[in-house]
Amino acid sequence: MNLPTEALTPGSAKTFYIETFGCQMNVHDAEKLAGTLISRGYRPVETHEEADLILYNTCSIREKAAEKVFSRLGTLKKAYRNNPKVIGVLGCVAQQEGERIFERAPQVSLVCGSASYTKLPDLLEQLEAGNRRVTGLDLDTDECFETELTRRDNPFRAYLTIIEGCDQRCAFCVVPTTRGPERSRPSDKILAECRRLVDEGYTEIQLLGQIVNAWEDPAPARLSFAELLGRVAEIAGIRRVRFTTSHPRYFTPEIVQAIESHPTLCDQIHLPEQSGSTRVHSRMLRGYSREEYLAKIDCIRRAKRAISISTDIIVGFWGEATGDFEQTMTLLDAVEYDQVFSFKYSPRPNTAAAGYEDSVPEEEKGRRLSALQEHQRQIQLRRNQAAIGDEFEVLVESYQPRLGQAVGRTTSNRVVNFPGAPEWVGRYFHVRVTAAGPNSLVGVRADRADSGGMTR
Ligand code: SAM
Repeated sequence: MNLPTEALTPGSAKTFYIETFGCQMNVHDAEKLAGTLISRGYRPVETHEEADLILYNTCSIREKAAEKVFSRLGTLKKAYRNNPKVIGVLGCVAQQEGERIFERAPQVSLVCGSASYTKLPDLLEQLEAGNRRVTGLDLDTDECFETELTRRDNPFRAYLTIIEGCDQRCAFCVVPTTRGPERSRPSDKILAECRRLVDEGYTEIQLLGQIVNAWEDPAPARLSFAELLGRVAEIAGIRRVRFTTSHPRYFTPEIVQAIESHPTLCDQIHLPEQSGSTRVHSRMLRGYSREEYLAKIDCIRRAKRAISISTDIIVGFWGEATGDFEQTMTLLDAVEYDQVFSFKYSPRPNTAAAGYEDSVPEEEKGRRLSALQEHQRQIQLRRNQAAIGDEFEVLVESYQPRLGQAVGRTTSNRVVNFPGAPEWVGRYFHVRVTAAGPNSLVGVRADRADSGGMTR
């Protein structure tokens, strides 16, 4: 097959298209990848048809997510049989499958895991020089992916990764083998980037990490995670700071105290529980019991400011008996989460549980997932209905022209739809809640004046 390497030769008008699957960290990786490409003279385009270089930034957390990329590659193969393009597979599937991707999808030229993104300029150079196949698959790194330029997609909320990789080795999870060991960015770099973002007009910053609260400051300041939250929250011009994902094992009362004492730290914590059963936690190698988890929840609930809590739950993990699942259901009542992200267990390669029998039948996993989601729906409906009549500050994230509705988000991460205008996107308003569903609220603009101007 002839590769159109002339399309990637320096000096020519090179275009790229990135499609991203998966979590916020992947979304932010794509923003940094785009920045790296733009620095090398590439121009972003909206469709793969227009692109010289097509990149898939992949997720392999569950099997379905990993398979999506191969289905996309199949489509490209047919579409560009007579006009091949330069195609790259990046991220978790790239790391997991490695050079096997070339066998399964021979049209691919670049395979690179996230732990090797710092090498991307070299890899691009090799492609531009006409190399047919290039790989970045080294996991053994202590470097974070720093970029001169980051092309952020969202004009008012900036993602900022503070810790890469993961050392937890939960029995179900591919992340440690796809993203490599934990490496934290120094506090001075993080704070400098936050200040730059404020200067650029961002008012909301979301700190990211697979285990964000495992962050350890390599800078001489040696800030704790809670201290870092406080420092970011104190930067003049910042109105909202969020952080995700926290692990219960590293969750300290100091984080709650930081939220209590900094109004700009959002009243929202995402704390994955995974199961309500200590027996299942122990098989998952999560490092805490149901009681220890509930003690952390109690600490959050006792905060001087009400804090909304969300979680992740996996149903049907290896050996999950009916009694274990019932404990997960009673946990929903005990915590009364504001939001739950729930998944059927999907066995993954290179994980501790990969060698065990996937003992809960698919049908039973589906039944448990539906029961859990229905139960949680009722809880959310009740909690949201209790907010009718309350007033919230929302940041408008989008506008639905068909309904004439602005879509805003509260600091506690609730979505509120209210009559609005397209130019309100990026602005803050006070809204009074008039109706509630399980997943969102409906409101009207409260009488007080708009609390802020355009964010940029
Ligand atoms: N690193 C975070 C932690 O461990 O708490 C979560 C990151 S992961 C991208 C998001 C969620 O996907 C996990 O919290 C878990 O509920 C779910 N997940 C991970 N591996 C899974 C698997 N093999 N099958 C089903 N769900 C899975």
